[in-house]
Order: sequence, then structure tokens, then C-alpha cells
Amino acid sequence: MRTHAHCKLSRGTDQVGNAKLWFRSHCRKQLVKRGFKMKDLRFYRALKEYILSGTFTPPCNKKMRKEMRRVSENFIAKDNRLFYTGPNKTYMRLVVCTEEEKRSVLMECHNSGTGNHNGVRGTRDRVIAGYFWPTLMKDVTEWVKCCRRCQLNDPMKTGTPVLHSIKVKAAWEVIGLDLIGPLRETGQKNKYVLTMTDLYTKWVVAEPLQNKTATEVSAAIIKTLYLFGMVKKIITDQGREFVNELNENIFATLKIKHAVSSAYHPQTNGQDERTNQNVKRVLRKYVNESHNDWDIHLPAVVYGINTAKQSSTRHTPYFLFFHRHPHLPEVMNACPMGEDFKIADPEDDLDTRVNEMKILNEKVRSKFM
Ligand SMILES: [Zn+2]
Repeated sequence: MRTHAHCKLSRGTDQVGNAKLWFRSHCRKQLVKRGFKMKDLRFYRALKEYILSGTFTPPCNKKMRKEMRRVSENFIAKDNRLFYTGPNKTYMRLVVCTEEEKRSVLMECHNSGTGNHNGVRGTRDRVIAGYFWPTLMKDVTEWVKCCRRCQLNDPMKTGTPVLHSIKVKAAWEVIGLDLIGPLRETGQKNKYVLTMTDLYTKWVVAEPLQNKTATEVSAAIIKTLYLFGMVKKIITDQGREFVNELNENIFATLKIKHAVSSAYHPQTNGQDERTNQNVKRVLRKYVNESHNDWDIHLPAVVYGINTAKQSSTRHTPYFLFFHRHPHLPEVMNACPMGEDFKIADPEDDLDTRVNEMKILNEKVRSKFM
């Protein structure tokens, strides 16, 4: 575990502690700064005033006024909010103008369900998709470093493991299979998770299981194959009790090749192993918090993984699988689009939309469940 002196200051829940200690160390630095520079959030509050009313709010010196005139064309103001559009005006990112806003954005993009306590890069991608402020990169890094739950759960997280790639040429051609568990038994009596990962798109399917019997595992595999189509090859690791029976029951009937990753070449199933680590890492965080209802969160967690950009493919599994981005209802207008506004790359906006989906899910759950 990392030891940050200021992390010891945190009290209460992880999330509150996280916000508190970050705010303390952050504000201390802000106070030291006397200047009124572009890195200062006050610059953007003044810029919003300038764009809205054409007037400069004091104390704006000559240099600042010149700077505001220069950068103003990269921003627009709408509904009393400032958006960064970039010179090409192909996207809109909400400009964060207060420390309070900054904190809630970091909470949303890191600590919330879809934020999944991702690492620095993952969190940064989510923040960049919808928001803008000058010290974004530095703040995200600090926020993640100060996150107690991330420190507790990822003591070994130093980088992504190197995988020996298997040649796969199409989506849903070869999938890797693995089991997570036993986890704490849920209200639905689930104890295991069967993960199926498409090696080409990295699309993940995860099914909660009560037991890891051949019958249950087979049923989950068949259900998934009927939903997404047949595959040519399934990779599992050896030593699982279900391997032999599965081989007979499913693989022979459906004429699917079965590859067993050997102990000497464990990387054969490396992709799925990594997915499992990912799912486990995220699940553990939920299990810590909500002991016996991890299976309720499982679909949202998997959705979060499938709609997050993968560094290896540079796309989301969802996009590679369906050749389109998910349609999501507009729930939270963190980044509203005008009718005249065109989006050049929908992926820029993806994370914002995923967050919207999470809020919708919570609304749906509170109403119907
Ligand atoms: Zn975290």
C-alpha cells in the first residue's frame, strides 16, 4: 500500500475521505498561488463573463484581456455555462469553473459505478470526454493516487501485463472462458462468475452462477452462443473440473474447437485472465461496499468495461462488436448539444453518455426494483 502522508487525514467513508484529503492538499496549493493566470479557474469564470456580456470582470489586467480575446474563439457559452469547443468546434466539453465542480466530476468519473475506480488513464479518458479545465491531467493523477480504495485494492497495479497475442481475424471467432470465485453468496445464491471474452473485440460477457457445475456452466455458454452466435474456438485453462464434461457436452455437439491453455503457456488464455482481473478488481470494490449484492452490479460493471476504450484496440469493445456507439437516452445534460452542433467523433462523448446511462439505471432501479 502506498503511504501518502496526507492520506492519513481522511476520515469517514472512502469517497468522502478521498474528496476531503484531495481538497485539502489541492486547496493549499491554490492558496499559495497569488497570480491570476490561465491555469486559474478564475480565468475561466472571467472568460465566461466576457463571452456572455463582452465585459471584463476585475481584476483583469491588460495582459489577461488580451489572452481572453485570443482564446475566446475556442469556447462558447450556453445556458450560462462555458464549453470548450477547440478550434475546429467539433465537440463540446463543459468547462469546470469551481473547485466544487471539479470534485464532483472526479467523483463521477472515478468513484461512481461507471468510473469503476479505473486507473489514471481510464479516469482521465472519462474526464476528457466531457469536461475541461487547465490542470485536468495533474488533478486526475492526484485524485487517483489519493483514492484509498484504489490503494487498498490495487497494491500490485504497476502496468498492464504483456500478453502473447493469438492470431484472431474476426469478431466472436475465438472466446476465452474463465471462472471467478467463490465470491460471497448473494441473495440470489450466486457465488461464481463465468466470463466469456471475445479475443478480437475484447467484448465481455459475464454470467453469475450459483455453482460451477458442468450443467450450470454449459447452460450459461449455450445461452451466450445463442445470443451472439457460434464461435470457432473456445479457450479455457486446464485443471478446471468443467473442462472434460464441457468438451463432451457442448464442444462436440456444436463442433467448436476447444483449446486448453497449458501450464507452460498460460498466456494462451491471457486475454481472458486479464479480463478476469479487470472484472475481479472492479467487483471487489463493490463487494467491499455491498457484500452480498455484487450480482446486481455485475451487468453495469460489464457494461462499463465494454463501453470503455481499450488501449490495445483504441476502441471500445462495444464499437468493435456492433460497429456503432450505444444509443443512450439523454438523462443528464452535462454536455448539451445544440441542433446546429455536429459531433465529429462520437467516441469523444462516449464516457459522458455512459455516465448518463448509469444515472438512468439508478433511476430505473429505484422506481421498479
Ligand atoms: Zn479509486
